[in-house]
Amino acid sequence: MCPWSQMLVIPHSHSREEKMFRLARVMVAMVLCPLAPAVAQTPSGGPVDPAAIEELVVANRILADRGIIDAYGHASMRHPGNPNRYLMARAIAPALVTAADIMEFDLDSNPVDRRGRSMFVERFIHSEVYKVRPDVNGVVHTHSMGVIPFGISQVPLRPVIHTASFLHVGVPVWEIREAGGVTNMLVNNAALGKSLALTLGSKPVALMRGHGNVVVGPNVRVVVARAVFTDENARMQAVALALGGPLNYISPEEGAKRDSEPSDPARAWDLWKAQALKKLPAN
Ligand code: MN
Repeated sequence: MCPWSQMLVIPHSHSREEKMFRLARVMVAMVLCPLAPAVAQTPSGGPVDPAAIEELVVANRILADRGIIDAYGHASMRHPGNPNRYLMARAIAPALVTAADIMEFDLDSNPVDRRGRSMFVERFIHSEVYKVRPDVNGVVHTHSMGVIPFGISQVPLRPVIHTASFLHVGVPVWEIREAGGVTNMLVNNAALGKSLALTLGSKPVALMRGHGNVVVGPNVRVVVARAVFTDENARMQAVALALGGPLNYISPEEGAKRDSEPSDPARAWDLWKAQALKKLPAN
């Protein structure tokens, strides 16, 4: 309802002054109420199973617990019931995320029910990926230190550990200068997000020069594992490069074979979740 329409609700009165005052209020409401649709809220994609919300909360906790994201960085999931919406926490350190912090956005990153909450300025990374990747239901943006050298040097990130074999398809590097010239390095609008999503293409990971990466997957569990293993792979590749000589990378054929025979993602998830929530069984 138009908030200005409350101006029409005034006490019953009969004096001339009060009638004139009422007329003035009606005229104000007539002018201002047509403006209300401009700030109309984005409709919700529908209710979300609390278990799905909890999965996203746990994803945030795991990524923080494993040092993949610190005060910054974020994880999101596509709305399980509406592909044109996604879910992500309000602007808050991932280690502190609870179910109450999860907000819903449309694919232009407009909030469904903002309620005064602050939002990640880089949420366009997520929305622009969801627009062009119908296969993607989970997105993670990190500043993980391991990947930084491969975004600023001429050495491509390639798989050296079997758990990161998904990198065999190649890891593109996104140059924000090509998309926006001199910026503050943040993907804080849809145009920059779209450029990043185009660089990502059909790949699982893209590096962001001098910043971090964007990691995507078919669900939250897979994207969390990919973010963890991408960082581990980058660190080990840098160590091996420091040893010198040509490296013996995991081949595209080996990578493709592992793509077709995925290992059980639940084992890592259950362990990481227990560690992140400090709920390890007593011995
Ligand atoms: Mn960032």
